[in-house]
Amino acid sequence: RAKNEGRNCSCFFEQAMDLEARKRHQMELDMREAVREGQFILNYQPLFSLEQDRVMGFEALVRWQHPLRGIVSPIEFIPLAEDTGLIVPISEWVLNEACQHARHWPESVRIAVNLSPVLFKNPGLPLMVMQALDAAKLAPNRLELEVTESLFIENVERTTAMLNALRECGVRIALDDFGTGYSSLNYLRSFPFDKIKIDKSFVNDLATDSSSRAIIGAITALASALGMETIAEGVEDIVQLEALRSQGCSNIQGYLFSRPVGIEHVDAMIANMRYIQHNDTTAP
Ligand code: C2E
Ligand code: MG
Ligand code: MG
Ligand code: MG
Repeated sequence: RAKNEGRNCSCFFEQAMDLEARKRHQMELDMREAVREGQFILNYQPLFSLEQDRVMGFEALVRWQHPLRGIVSPIEFIPLAEDTGLIVPISEWVLNEACQHARHWPESVRIAVNLSPVLFKNPGLPLMVMQALDAAKLAPNRLELEVTESLFIENVERTTAMLNALRECGVRIALDDFGTGYSSLNYLRSFPFDKIKIDKSFVNDLATDSSSRAIIGAITALASALGMETIAEGVEDIVQLEALRSQGCSNIQGYLFSRPVGIEHVDAMIANMRYIQHNDTTAP
């Protein structure tokens, strides 16, 4: 009898769980179809150098064009893609698509691609990267792979071995969302990253919070001492930009400069940046 009562009590929750599970299952089926049917697209967000006054590259950001639900954000579907293993074919598509687009850009413009930690369990990752570069005839140093600190939670040795194997392919490695992990400074010792992307949470309250300013100044100085570049993400206004500049961080990414845009806007953005630069240098 007690058991029955228990069941009654949890009935509501069981139904709710069941609904959640069914939703997840449906989403997984949809995602399999999306991989088959090619329902993913890439948006590009410029990475801008204040010092050089030009676009240094673009970060590829994936979106899912769901036939019924419209555009689905990666924040929503990447976790399930990671759980189901679908992250592998999705990432393969992202890498290839991004490299194919980037092959038409000027040599000074890089392409940045996000890599899920799940991919690092797959010994075929460096091959996957090399094949995408080869197919696009893109020089490896034009590709920057963005990884997050969560990569180091599991197996530091395997992770660094994989990062080294990727580095040997000639690609650049950036540490994304820096400062949000549990032991951020430690990760800088584990691997010599080419670039640190300072998480947007530090940029958010730059205007009002002097400790965020100090932290960004310290990260920038540290990175420079380690021979790494820095870029601040999530820069939305001019006050943040000036605070970053005064803290020695001269690379920015954010809505202030541009939201992520479709590939059809990228050429104009590249051309426009050069035009502004050209105008500046030839002004009387
Ligand atoms: P992320 O790599 O840190 O990318 C930056 C995110 O911040 C993007 O969100 C971008 O649209 C957003 N963002 C850029 N500037 C600003 C700003 O000024 N203000 C605010 N509030 N947000 C800004 P998005 O495109 O929704 O991507 C979210 C995350 O999804 C990415 O974070 C990345 O971790 C992941 N992601 C995106 N594409 C891929 C992919 O192809 N593969 C994998 N594994 N993950 C991806
Ligand atoms: Mg990123
Ligand atoms: Mg980021
Ligand atoms: Mg982020």
